[in-house]
Amino acid sequence: MVSKIALEEHFLCPGFEKYWAATVSGVAPDALQRITARLSDFGDGRIEAMDKAGIAKAVLSLAGPGVQVEPDRATAVRMAAGANDYLAKELQKSPDRYAGFGHLAMHDATAAADELERCMGDLGFSGAMINGHTNGQYLDHPALAPFWERAAALHAPIYIHPTDPVTPSPVLDGYPALRRATWEWGFETGSHALRLVFGGVFARFPEAKVILGHLGETLPYLLWRFDSRAKLYGVELPRPPSSYIKSNIYVTTSGMFSAEPLACAIAALGHDRVMFSSDYPFESPEEAGSFMDLVMLSQDVRADIAFNNARRILKL
Ligand code: ZN
Repeated sequence: MVSKIALEEHFLCPGFEKYWAATVSGVAPDALQRITARLSDFGDGRIEAMDKAGIAKAVLSLAGPGVQVEPDRATAVRMAAGANDYLAKELQKSPDRYAGFGHLAMHDATAAADELERCMGDLGFSGAMINGHTNGQYLDHPALAPFWERAAALHAPIYIHPTDPVTPSPVLDGYPALRRATWEWGFETGSHALRLVFGGVFARFPEAKVILGHLGETLPYLLWRFDSRAKLYGVELPRPPSSYIKSNIYVTTSGMFSAEPLACAIAALGHDRVMFSSDYPFESPEEAGSFMDLVMLSQDVRADIAFNNARRILKL
């Protein structure tokens, strides 16, 4: 079993259930109870699941959407700081097994930058996870430039986690099974990342680092097309879109335990930009782990994706 670091592993802390409830509407009560118990556990249950999957260290993040859906700015800032303090205390109990991503209120660019700095400094976190748009505002918004400036200066990886779109797309009407994790979130989150690319955020802040789950939310598959259409539509960027995706975006295997998209991500981005994740407790860490152990890769590449890349990129 190859030793692993996992990056999209969630927890829930008191006070955030109300934000989280919408994400799990429609989930059967017994399954919901099981998931909630796992999210709230930082002890034996989680460690046992990690051990079975060969996960040496899990980078924990709040289950979304968190304060990304909080309408009040001051409440969002206060709640996010509270979640980070809560996580920091839990990390102290098992520092060898856990690391953390901060939770940020993107309602206020400077407050978010300050909190990111506190997370990376005082709290010892490895970056932040942002659960998609904040009340409809995406991360390319010009008001967020001070945030990206600080994130780039801190070399902080910013993991963009899927969330519901602002307006459900009519093409999925009548097909609830295609909403959310099946298809809707991939399009939403891939589009969010493309706003950063096409909006010139990476051109302005070359040191900015973004992580996407689900092996890149389909972006690695479409690099050629982004470049070809950007030319056709006269997109003004110093470099082709694919070049920013290859230099500023990293991807994880969360919820995508499948050889074909892994091969595509490696071919498109390079194996040093791909990292292991399971998406605990929404996916089985054992399935994620055994995929990582058995998928056809050289032992060097397997070790890099499972462990070494995360250690280098997150400075663990
Ligand atoms: Zn997740």
